[in-house]
Amino acid sequence: MNLKNSKFYKRIQELRHFSKDKIRRDREQRSRVVRHLDMALSEQQCSDREWYSPGQSPTQQPASPRRRGKKMRGMKKKASAGKETEEICPYYDQSSGQNSPVPGVEAKLQGFIQLNDKTYRVECPTRVVNPPQNLDEERAASETKSTICVSNSRYAMIGKISKTLGYKLVKESKLWNILWSDSFPGVELFKNMKRFQQINHFPGMIEICRKDLLSRNLNRMLKLYPQDYKIFPKTWMLPADYGDAMNYALNHKRTFILKPDSGAQGRGIWLTNDLKTIGPHERLICQTYIHRPLLIDGYKFDLRVYTLITSVDPLRIFVYNEGLARFATNKYVEPTPGNANDLYMHLTNYSVNKRNSHYELCDNDDCGSKRKLSAINNWMRRHNYDVEEFWSNVDDVIIKTVLSAWPVLKHNYHACFPGHDKIQACFEILGFDILVDWKLKPYILEVNHSPSFHTNEQVDREVKRPLIRDTLNLVSTVLADKRQILREDRKRVKQRLLKIRGEPPVPRPRVAGGGTSKAKIDIKTANGEPNLNPMVIEAEAEDQGPLAQQIAWEESHLGNFRKIMPPPDLTKLDYYSRFYAQSNQVSIFAETAASKKREDLARKMRIQIEEKKAKQQQMLNGKSKRDARKRHAVMLPRAVREKNRMNLFRLRENWTPGFISDAEERLRHTWLHMRSEAIRTLKITENIYSNLYETGHLTNTDMVVYPHFYHNLQHGFDIRQNP
Ligand code: ADP
Repeated sequence: MNLKNSKFYKRIQELRHFSKDKIRRDREQRSRVVRHLDMALSEQQCSDREWYSPGQSPTQQPASPRRRGKKMRGMKKKASAGKETEEICPYYDQSSGQNSPVPGVEAKLQGFIQLNDKTYRVECPTRVVNPPQNLDEERAASETKSTICVSNSRYAMIGKISKTLGYKLVKESKLWNILWSDSFPGVELFKNMKRFQQINHFPGMIEICRKDLLSRNLNRMLKLYPQDYKIFPKTWMLPADYGDAMNYALNHKRTFILKPDSGAQGRGIWLTNDLKTIGPHERLICQTYIHRPLLIDGYKFDLRVYTLITSVDPLRIFVYNEGLARFATNKYVEPTPGNANDLYMHLTNYSVNKRNSHYELCDNDDCGSKRKLSAINNWMRRHNYDVEEFWSNVDDVIIKTVLSAWPVLKHNYHACFPGHDKIQACFEILGFDILVDWKLKPYILEVNHSPSFHTNEQVDREVKRPLIRDTLNLVSTVLADKRQILREDRKRVKQRLLKIRGEPPVPRPRVAGGGTSKAKIDIKTANGEPNLNPMVIEAEAEDQGPLAQQIAWEESHLGNFRKIMPPPDLTKLDYYSRFYAQSNQVSIFAETAASKKREDLARKMRIQIEEKKAKQQQMLNGKSKRDARKRHAVMLPRAVREKNRMNLFRLRENWTPGFISDAEERLRHTWLHMRSEAIRTLKITENIYSNLYETGHLTNTDMVVYPHFYHNLQHGFDIRQNP
């Protein structure tokens, strides 16, 4: 047999190759550290940092997350503390990431560098050394490659774009950095996530993504802030609000639109102006119909505005500047009984209108049943509408919608990710459906947690591809060092197992006052002026910890996103601060009439259940008392028990001796006599006694009470026979 062809031989060769590789890598690592040190000692004049150029514009995109990851991690990495610490001056080690010098600012910077088992503390005024250029970039890149799992998404485009950005596609069972899923994952998945992992959904976002929950939240906010929350059509949740809706219909001649409470894609929607046709038990969302929408070329349309949320505490919302306008395919006429059934006229869903033969595919910006938001903006400008004001109103609607669910989002996030201290565990692209009326007032219709990323048309591709790309560039995945986190986690587990008391975990910086203060980090300078200089932001960020680093990262990687929360100007920031306090003001269910009814009902049910429970408990207590009494009674002598029983009987029956008749007494006597005769002649006592004797169940009392029986039996006589 030729050994060289055997599997075993090949495996040995492979292992040898691996170990050679490892030795080479270790050697390189060592020489790199020595080189760092040499450079430090030679007091080389520092130039700008390679990975952060102050002149870099906020929208400038780096080549790929591999490089970006390496750079940012380079900024963050700290050399672990060694046994000895020596001072080498002047030198600033970039890998320490302790301080980040801003050119032109005199400051003393400190850092650590580790060489073999020694840690050197290094100091430098403001000079920064360029990292060595001749590193094995490719290998380093592959070491830090971010991974993404898209197996739970039906959109192939996400995987493709991720690949082009340098992400590696992996299965769900692997240690992915990002999990992109079309559906809401279960709580278990959230809870098991590692600190470097991110998922494209926030726990609790359903609060605004289901029609009924959205209506409930917005109605609650409308009650609290009647002037500010007129951002959606009047909405009732049937059957709970059936009475209210009927009342409104009696006093107002309006058309209503009825939708299933968790429907989508225009399914099950119809218009009516007679609410009596609805059964009082049907589960539906009833809304006033916006009968004068803004029309373009005579067609009704709605806007799909893509919104990215990267954090809920503090709340950070970005809106994509490009999006879609979806057009109805029959020219719009205000609803009448004759046209109310024409869904191609009243609904703007793509899934409905694509079935119409009038559906228009067009490569030109100003035609087609699906157009880009930029085309709509151009149309508005041509028609002298104030586009800036319009988008500021849209932003307002989006912020207020998210704020309506903010307490739940914040609570759920902290409950699911108590230890996620490096980067945010979630981000989410939401599709806001916005209808605009003839006065250019935007209304929120619906929020989609998994907006469609199908790219059937050119316009889809032009909007959705850059959207995904910019999202993946903006999320802060690269800020987490997977290896380091895994190492730390392993160490923690080990310490727990060995019951070693480790250092207490660094608490995640919490935000007082609903996230506003932290949000201010990135927009205010010391004197209160807005500060939009990315360089200063980044320098500040490094002093503030991981969250601030994320903020700085996002500010400098906006792509085509605009940040709407925290808003860029302070008056707006103050305006929105009041809505954060919603949860402190009233109970979450105590605002609408229907909610009150529901709460009343719930309270009554609670009381009923509690009463029932108390009754059951009482019964159980009674039963157990009776049982205890019985057990106690058994232990008493028979005479005492009998006396007690008679006392109880008398007590219960309120017993007094009644009239005794002679005849009855005689009869009773006769019966007693007959019974004794029967017992005697049939030898019942002897029979029972000898049975007990034979089976060994005779007690001492039996022996004492019937000594002759016992004596006879002892001597072998059969007491059942006649003497
Ligand atoms: P779905 O989730 O089924 O798409 P939507 O609430 O988005 O349900 O409504 C579908 C379409 O119906 C919208 O795109 C819009 O054109 C129209 N529509 C919904 N609500 C209203 C309303 N209150 N006034 C006018 N048109 C509406």
